Amino acid sequence: MESYWSVGVEVPETSIVSTTVRVDAAVVGAGFSGIAAAYYLARAGLRVAILEAGEAADGASGRNGGQVLPGWSENMVRIAEHHGVEVAEALWSLSEEALGRISELVDVHRLECDLVQVGHLEAGETPGQVAELEAEMRFLDRWRTRERCWWDPRQIESAVGTSAYQGGYFDPAGMAFHPRRYALGLLRQTLAMGAQLYQNTPVRGWERRNGGFRVTAGPGVVECQEVVLATNAYPPADAPWLRSRILPVSSAQIAVKLANPQAVPANMPTVSDTKAELNYYRRVGKDTFLFGGRALASEFRRGAFPSLRRQLAMLFPNLAESAVTHQWSGRIAITRDLMPHLARMQDGVWALGGYTGHGAALSTEFGFLVADAIVHQRPDPRAEALMAIDWQAFPLGRAGRGLLPVVVGALDLRRRLTLRQR
Ligand SMILES: Cc1cc2nc3c(=O)[nH]c(=O)nc-3n(C[C@H](O)[C@H](O)[C@H](O)COP(=O)(O)OP(=O)(O)OC[C@H]3O[C@@H](n4cnc5c(N)ncnc54)[C@H](O)[C@@H]3O)c2cc1C
Repeated sequence: MESYWSVGVEVPETSIVSTTVRVDAAVVGAGFSGIAAAYYLARAGLRVAILEAGEAADGASGRNGGQVLPGWSENMVRIAEHHGVEVAEALWSLSEEALGRISELVDVHRLECDLVQVGHLEAGETPGQVAELEAEMRFLDRWRTRERCWWDPRQIESAVGTSAYQGGYFDPAGMAFHPRRYALGLLRQTLAMGAQLYQNTPVRGWERRNGGFRVTAGPGVVECQEVVLATNAYPPADAPWLRSRILPVSSAQIAVKLANPQAVPANMPTVSDTKAELNYYRRVGKDTFLFGGRALASEFRRGAFPSLRRQLAMLFPNLAESAVTHQWSGRIAITRDLMPHLARMQDGVWALGGYTGHGAALSTEFGFLVADAIVHQRPDPRAEALMAIDWQAFPLGRAGRGLLPVVVGALDLRRRLTLRQR
């Protein structure tokens, strides 16, 4: 079954690299990160080739929940504990800029992607989860950027239609969009400024040549001065540095048709929770409910979709019998510190990603930052602050990579289960 977002959305037709292409910058990966980087590079007048292994927006960017959220995947209190309050504040404001940047791009180019500000609820099921969320909300309030509200179980039930949560905070800044239309709309603008897109053109490696780089892409070659690796959860086989820092994990979604459109509130916010399964959901269109989550390792072996249906029925018993119209999955990129990163792997080779399931907004901002650093030949202070955060490799060597999903899954799960029991 195809993704809900693929229906009726055409991908631009392009060629593959078959000879030698010469550009200023090669951007590897045509998701939000790569497209945004290419957009800002092309806007500054650089010659850009976007090299995509499959089809544009067919990675996480065309498969996600379309929740365009403030903040970072990691709780801001923990970010402040690890990196200090000043860095936490800088990172928070970066995420606010990301929302503004997306709104601006959508406005300026009239991108038809149903961008709407519905607000976002971050909800907890157990006292431990609720206490963490309360602490985060109190922490964020110190910057007084806007009013967030604490919702008790009754308020959540009336706004969202489930009695499963003990509390959560509502942030009015949360937005939602059609992710595939946003990505492809921005891509079309980028191509209109002269960037070239090559699909079905996997990058296999690169080497220094004549002061620049020679990138092997599909059956051809791209010669350039700068390489941007925007491959997120799908890092190239020939990039061991990047591969050792990214753990790809599946996340799946189903779209269900609401037989009774009043079964969940029409103007509900987007929601995500802090359970082990990490469910996220929203309404879309007249009568569709999108429900996603990360199945537990044991359940993935039996298939993510039956498990998603069970989770849906637990949160929304009245939707238990609803017809599933679409089901699909994609990969999110987990990092060791659960934070996205921006790095200069070597002079002229940039890597960005590791959004840990929270990249719909941040990836556009990261794409901008990397393009800006290339155009001005130096990272701006925000990019420098990001680059100063060590992008740590997972502790196991190449041979142990197969074990990583199990190890990290177990650690993350243990943290969440501890919270669940508190
Ligand atoms: C099911 C799901 C639901 C999600 N829901 C949300 C949500 O609601 N809100 C939120 O904030 N985030 C969400 N996310 C995360 C968000 O989608 C990602 O953080 C974001 O899309 C990352 O964009 P990207 O451009 O960095 O990566 P991608 O969109 O994955 O793009 C990477 C691209 O690189 C290409 N590539 C890889 N290797 C090569 C190579 N060697 N040569 C050429 N190309 C290559 C891939 O084919 C791919 O197209 C979700 C993710 C998933 C999977």
